[in-house]
Amino acid sequence: MMQIKENQQLKIKGRVVIGQSMKELTSIKIGGEADYFAVPQDLDDLKLVLSFCKEKDIPFFVIGNGTKLLMRDEGFKGVIVKLGEHFKSIKNNGRQTRVGAGVDLSTLIDFTTERGFSGLESLSGVPGTIGGAIARNASAFGEDISQRVLSVKALDKDNNYLTLSREALGFGYRTSIFLNNRDWIIIEAELELWPREKEEIVSRLEEIRKKKVLSQPISFASAGCIFKNPSSYSAGFLIQEAGCLGMKVGGAQVSLQHANFIINKGNATARDVLRLIQEIKGKVKDKFNISLEPELEII
Ligand SMILES: Cc1cc2nc3c(=O)[nH]c(=O)nc-3n(C[C@H](O)[C@H](O)[C@H](O)COP(=O)(O)OP(=O)(O)OC[C@H]3O[C@@H](n4cnc5c(N)ncnc54)[C@H](O)[C@@H]3O)c2cc1C
Repeated sequence: MMQIKENQQLKIKGRVVIGQSMKELTSIKIGGEADYFAVPQDLDDLKLVLSFCKEKDIPFFVIGNGTKLLMRDEGFKGVIVKLGEHFKSIKNNGRQTRVGAGVDLSTLIDFTTERGFSGLESLSGVPGTIGGAIARNASAFGEDISQRVLSVKALDKDNNYLTLSREALGFGYRTSIFLNNRDWIIIEAELELWPREKEEIVSRLEEIRKKKVLSQPISFASAGCIFKNPSSYSAGFLIQEAGCLGMKVGGAQVSLQHANFIINKGNATARDVLRLIQEIKGKVKDKFNISLEPELEII
């Protein structure tokens, strides 16, 4: 991996890396190299990256913490963009909190808990950023982030600003308008939370943490749930009943703790994961005549 400080082509204040391993950018620790990895420090930097991509006709893909992604072994022919420092601010004004898209959910929850604001507790332990949580409408224990979002500010590939209210964000199960507009980058969001005793928030957070530890293989490299839940049963239940627990392809294995998680036992490739996904789908289809759909995004 070569890091360039004085890149002739893409000059920004933030970081630019040529030939970035995607293993280092995803929680499942899989993926080939991206041609470029850019970390724009602020909005001017981000605009430069987008102009560079437009001028050179190079595709870009924005990531948060890479906790819902499977990057192919062949890598990404383009620029992977991850928002830098300027996109990590949080400002609280009564019930309204303005948060940068690069902020980790855990950081936001610590911030709002400290100030006695409630509404995000169920999402505690989801390892993504605000940008990723909004794009994928992250949810847990029956609550999803869309319920807290008032509006989102984004930038499109031509460097135009967009301000979208909750109604315009196309939120659904693990989806939002951003999955259909891949060249819109979330910059920040305005959330609405409500005051609550700090002790009550902390105790709810502890309850959620215990449930997560018991139900998810959080000490292994994974990308969260692999399949969406069909309307009838949970995907985990169907996978388990179809006899897939512990099933392996290469270094990828169906978690013994949560059947809807595939874990990387150390040297898994994207090909291993994709084959395992096909095998699980086949077994569930044979047993229940249900076609599981991936929740994981394959890039
Ligand atoms: C152990 C574990 C547990 C998990 N538990 C849960 C859970 O309980 N509930 C749940 O919903 N998910 C869960 N996840 C999945 C994941 O953490 C969430 O989907 C999270 O919201 C993804 O955020 P991210 O920043 O990692 O996004 P990434 O994985 O980096 O990206 C996901 C999508 O968001 C888009 N995106 C990211 N940032 C931006 C931006 N600024 N502008 C536009 N688009 C953007 C990307 O392009 C991509 O399409 C879990 C994952 C793991 C590994």
